[in-house]
Amino acid sequence: MAKAKAVFICQSCGANSPKWIGKCPSCNEWNTYVEEIVTPQPKEVSRTSTKNSQPQLLEQVELSEQNRLVTPDNELNRVLGGGIVPGSLVLIGGEPGIGKSTLMLQLALSLSGKKILYVSGEESEQQIRMRAGRVDMQNASCYVLTETTLQLIFKHLENIEPDILIIDSIQTLYSTLIESAPGSVSQIRGCAGELLRYAKEENVPVFLIGHITKDGVIAGPKVLEHMVDTVLQFEGDRHHVYRLLRSSKNRFGSTSELGIYEMHGNGLKEVTDPGEILISQRNAELSGIAIACNLEGMRTMLIETQALVSSAVYGTPQRSATGFDIRRLNMLLAVLEKRCGFRLGAKDVF
Ligand SMILES: [Zn+2]
Repeated sequence: MAKAKAVFICQSCGANSPKWIGKCPSCNEWNTYVEEIVTPQPKEVSRTSTKNSQPQLLEQVELSEQNRLVTPDNELNRVLGGGIVPGSLVLIGGEPGIGKSTLMLQLALSLSGKKILYVSGEESEQQIRMRAGRVDMQNASCYVLTETTLQLIFKHLENIEPDILIIDSIQTLYSTLIESAPGSVSQIRGCAGELLRYAKEENVPVFLIGHITKDGVIAGPKVLEHMVDTVLQFEGDRHHVYRLLRSSKNRFGSTSELGIYEMHGNGLKEVTDPGEILISQRNAELSGIAIACNLEGMRTMLIETQALVSSAVYGTPQRSATGFDIRRLNMLLAVLEKRCGFRLGAKDVF
């Protein structure tokens, strides 16, 4: 076995250095270097390839575009660009507790007739069963496995041969060929690389759940985002009912698509008419409300803006905005003042 050595790896971008540095020269983040044990290029891999790829004439390559697996979840289909592409590696990022596991479990349970393997390193089989009971869906061919060692997962994959593999989460995976701790850059990169090979060779779509840090980036390296085919972000406030699913990278579709869900006690429900939740629908004659139509990917959304202008009590008028760029607000007010003759200099604008 090759001699292991310690290197310091940036947990944000994956750059490495022989000694500790305070500021990463590659991504300019502070205090991101962590010591990891790296065995230089392990010769062995966790699973042996079942087929050798051969050069093929481009004309003879079969088109698999029409083989997309369309799920019952229309929001997910749209964000993925029209369904699940065979052999694709999809990363789903989001804050802990936002509902990523629920979204994936619902996907696993909604595809009846497909063999799904849901591998969890975070919850026991009983906990997953309880959650499945809450969402009240059944799929007779959905397998669950509590395992974090990549090599053992590959053994089970050989026996089960699933149509779809779900990993919850990539941060808990551990490869025995890599000496770093689970969740470290080397582990995440190594495990994702082997799963990528599995997805491409067996033509099985693989979903990876990834936790994000407080800054909103997927924990672990940015190299992970470069490796996968699609990066989906699951966003929202955990105290509110609505969740947004958007793609920040998609090799098989547009990245401007948006999926909206509503979180209920019994799981996530699709929001088919976003106008209902984005428009307050109170008094139509009330002043200060403007509704505009906005194009998000393939569908239109109605967006409501509410404004309040009142006389300023203090010398300096207040300018305050929620969900709107304050500099843009100031510019619009300046245009109204200069070109339209509105006297806004002594008004508070909310
Ligand atoms: Zn860095």
